[in-house]
Amino acid sequence: MTRNSSIANEYKTLSVMMALYCRKRHQTGGKELCPSCAELLSYAKSCLDKCPFAADKPVCADCPVHCYKPVRRRQIQEVMRYAGPRMLRSHPLLALRHLLKKFKKSIALKP
Ligand SMILES: [Zn+2]
Repeated sequence: MTRNSSIANEYKTLSVMMALYCRKRHQTGGKELCPSCAELLSYAKSCLDKCPFAADKPVCADCPVHCYKPVRRRQIQEVMRYAGPRMLRSHPLLALRHLLKKFKKSIALKP
């Protein structure tokens, strides 16, 4: 996979998760994110753009480089915790790809 498609996938997954989260948590209803979620998403995107792992990027939760500031990290974790299980129902392919990456990573870590 090229850097761009891997990063683009990650971004797509993230934006779907944010949309799910924002719609339920902040009652935004439509397709638009509320201002604070939109800001968090653009922050996350700027981190993705700078990610040194490129195509081989682990999922952000497992990433050894914590590029998110602590407060942002907590926000993202909350989004993932909320949207993760729901992703399986609404976007099984995206969710599966995300899980698969996690799985591969944990295999690689075992001695
Ligand atoms: Zn929101």
